Amino acid sequence: MTPVLVINSGSSSFKYQLLDMDSERTLASGLVERIGDPMGVARHTVYATPTDGPSPAFLDATRTRELPIPDHTAGFGVMLEAFASDGPSLAETPPVAVGHRVVHGGARFFEPTLITPLVEINIDELSVLAPLHNPANLAGIVAARAAFPDVPHVAVFDTAFHQTLSPAAYTYAIDAEVAASHRIRRYGFHGTSHKFVSEAAAAFLGRPLAELRQIVFHLGNGASVTAIDGGRSVDTSMGFTPLEGLVMGTRSGDIDPAVLFQLERRAGMTVDDLDELLNKRSGLLGLAGSNDLRDIRAAIERGEERAILAFEVYVHRLRAYAGAYLAQLGGADVISFTAGVGENAPHVRAGALETLGFAGVEIDPARNESRERGIRIISTDASAVTVLVVPTDEELEIARQTLSVARA
Ligand code: ADP
Repeated sequence: MTPVLVINSGSSSFKYQLLDMDSERTLASGLVERIGDPMGVARHTVYATPTDGPSPAFLDATRTRELPIPDHTAGFGVMLEAFASDGPSLAETPPVAVGHRVVHGGARFFEPTLITPLVEINIDELSVLAPLHNPANLAGIVAARAAFPDVPHVAVFDTAFHQTLSPAAYTYAIDAEVAASHRIRRYGFHGTSHKFVSEAAAAFLGRPLAELRQIVFHLGNGASVTAIDGGRSVDTSMGFTPLEGLVMGTRSGDIDPAVLFQLERRAGMTVDDLDELLNKRSGLLGLAGSNDLRDIRAAIERGEERAILAFEVYVHRLRAYAGAYLAQLGGADVISFTAGVGENAPHVRAGALETLGFAGVEIDPARNESRERGIRIISTDASAVTVLVVPTDEELEIARQTLSVARA
């Protein structure tokens, strides 16, 4: 047994998962939320692992507790109590390492990194670029290091995978001095997922990663697409922040920046209003009143015009990026879909690739509609480009990278 604990910390909550890296199975997971509120909530789930054969872990038992959780340190205390009372026992099999998801690694971190006091200072300093995320990630790191002082802690950055972008791909065409002094450039996000999916796709197809041109659509509430050449990210749709690119649950994605000037000048909106508008009240929510594609689907079936338009705008953008990345890569060998929408919405996948017959992309409608779980092919046998659905697993990827650093 080689247990690794993975922490994904937000400002008022954190998620955790304990994995056994010998089997790569999840042993337990949980969520501690409403930290700092009068009443907090902690949920802990233990998975029973079947003894025979490599079938997936199945859900055993979940327990939810309500109690005040004043800060992240108290939250880790609650998590440790849950492990002690419901298992698995961390006293018997303590984690060999703790992995932390960190959103922004700037241009400094391009690999999973052993956390030292200096690394903590650097993560804190990068809060300039990610004011909502990095401080929250750091709060989790500080509390987790206090709870597990004797094991290596490793930071895995959302931006790291995209550090291979060329200057041509990451540079915005603005005044170079302004850009340099404020570190304005494209960083890209969801890197852990794009890396996991592109490697899983190559392994599934039994083909060397180095030989494949891949396009990965990560379509969750946040959404991004990456062009990957030989395992290296060469272009990605999210930019300086996760706001750029595709239409998302609540984010606009690409928009003419002059729209913001107009709204400031003509509608009297402040920078904070505009931030809120584009990040929280746009995308599918802004267009159709829900950020959940299942609701949009139901509304389309009822014939709601705004839901039909929202879906068309969403798919139109996917298609534009598919075409752009086919051009950047000079064609593709594999196109993969992952995350909540990518794994569950066949009509989105079909819409995104519908016009790409000229590039050798041919979806098999029955395979695409299949409710089968797990990694699977949805293109026809004759399709020159293999199209896949690949369930993402960011916790497993963080645990893998954490272990590789801890063992180095
Ligand atoms: P996050 O970015 O929060 O991790 P997920 O990857 O879990 O998000 O994706 C959540 C989104 O996936 C939901 O908002 C919903 O739009 C979509 N989704 C989830 N299940 C389905 C489904 N069965 N059919 C269509 N869309 C789904």
